[in-house]
Amino acid sequence: MKEDDVLDFAKALVNAKRNLTYCSVCYNITDTDPCRICEDQQRDKSLVCVVQEAKDVIAMEKMKEYHGDYHVLQGAISPMDGIGPEDIKIPELLKRLQDDTIQEVIIATNPTIEGEATAMYISRLVKPTGIKVTRIAHGLPVGGDLEYADEVTLSRAIEGRREL
Ligand SMILES: [Zn+2]
Repeated sequence: MKEDDVLDFAKALVNAKRNLTYCSVCYNITDTDPCRICEDQQRDKSLVCVVQEAKDVIAMEKMKEYHGDYHVLQGAISPMDGIGPEDIKIPELLKRLQDDTIQEVIIATNPTIEGEATAMYISRLVKPTGIKVTRIAHGLPVGGDLEYADEVTLSRAIEGRREL
């Protein structure tokens, strides 16, 4: 690359970093506030999918099957690391739910101890409000072989079974 090109490239990177912020509604990383997903009126505003990180939104969006909104927690509850519910975007989620547009909260935190604890915590708070709380099913990877699946994965797969 010519030196001028390198400088232009570096400038573009710095600008990209400077212009990125968090959406004040869903806390996803964005260059507009509210972000494009929150702004998009074609999306199903009655659904909110709760994820741990902004990269989880990208993964969900790649799938192209989900057309609701998101809420990015920016972490998970982890007492071992001193991270409590107030340290992630749980209060912000509860505030969003006061608006009666949202009818279902889909919890898509990771299938780890922290992710599960976070899912349980949210579900305990949200259920009494009458809003439906669901958890995405964790199961076997496509192309995986049943006999090689670990017990936790298998038991999750059984729990998350559905009628055919
Ligand atoms: Zn947003």
